[in-house]
Amino acid sequence: MKTYYTIPIFIPEKACPYRCIYCNQYKIVGCDSIIQPEEMKSLIDTYLSTIPSNACKTIAFFGGSFTGMPIEEQSRYLQVAYHYLSGGLVQRIQLSTRPDYISGPILDNLGKYGVKIVELGAQSLHDKVLDFIGRGHTVQQVETAAGMIRDHGFELGLQMMIGLPSDTPQGAMETAKKIIALKAQNTRIYPTLVIKNTCLETLYRQGKYIPLTLDEAVDLSAQIYALFDRNNVKVLRVGLHPSEGLLNGESLVAGPFHVSFKELVLTKIWKEKFLQIPENKQGRLLIKVSPQAINAAIGYGAENKKLLKTRFAEVQFVKDGQKENFEWNWQIEEI
Ligand code: SF4
Repeated sequence: MKTYYTIPIFIPEKACPYRCIYCNQYKIVGCDSIIQPEEMKSLIDTYLSTIPSNACKTIAFFGGSFTGMPIEEQSRYLQVAYHYLSGGLVQRIQLSTRPDYISGPILDNLGKYGVKIVELGAQSLHDKVLDFIGRGHTVQQVETAAGMIRDHGFELGLQMMIGLPSDTPQGAMETAKKIIALKAQNTRIYPTLVIKNTCLETLYRQGKYIPLTLDEAVDLSAQIYALFDRNNVKVLRVGLHPSEGLLNGESLVAGPFHVSFKELVLTKIWKEKFLQIPENKQGRLLIKVSPQAINAAIGYGAENKKLLKTRFAEVQFVKDGQKENFEWNWQIEEI
């Protein structure tokens, strides 16, 4: 099975015209300077020295509004990435940006350097929410940019957030459905956190913003993740990358941060499936899942296995190489 590695190039808030009220990329990402194109080479070489040569490797520009930079500056970063792509040392280039920084000439330039995936921070597909959080663009702009990215032949990613101020769980579900309707091929789900030195911190301290609890964020993310999975939208990430500032609490004021947030979400998805199996306290329950899914199926801290043991005499999880993603089956043997 092919393994995938990402070589991340963080360019925090590079070219962001606005400061979204929840955002302090330097705190989220955990770095306090912007990498220059001429510094990329040693970073990429360091990553490559640790990655198996037969793996599929992606250079990914994160953390800002890549295409908001002057096109010459974009090209300076892309030239370095393209050097590795054209030499066969990496297989893909991807980047994230804002929907209002997409145009024909910009996409043509990205195509010239072999960019494969363009991700847009959509965050919400409700104008009321976008307005409140200071995104500085509209839903219409997301829709237009998404269409242009697809038409230019790029793989489209649309990232979303849950727990945003002025949003609701139902509103977040609607955003997910619109992301599917816009034919995104991949997505990321980020729970809103209150980060230090943001407008959201002020709102939180004034009692005007209440973040989701960890349980609420996990439940909602699980519903959204399962919806994306049923509609073949690949979920590339759930929860923020755990930077040092988030891990030691220095950057985090409040909100549903957990170092294993994705594992909690996957545990919840599997749990919902397993609860459909009729209880049988005399039976041995055998559950088959793919080798990649077995840890998540057993659950974070073996939560699902422990729960099932209260409903069955014995519980056994088995790896089945014929299965993928959330495919599974079960049987009960009398003992
Ligand atoms: S566009 Fe993205 S990086 Fe820029 S301020 Fe908003 S959330 Fe932060």
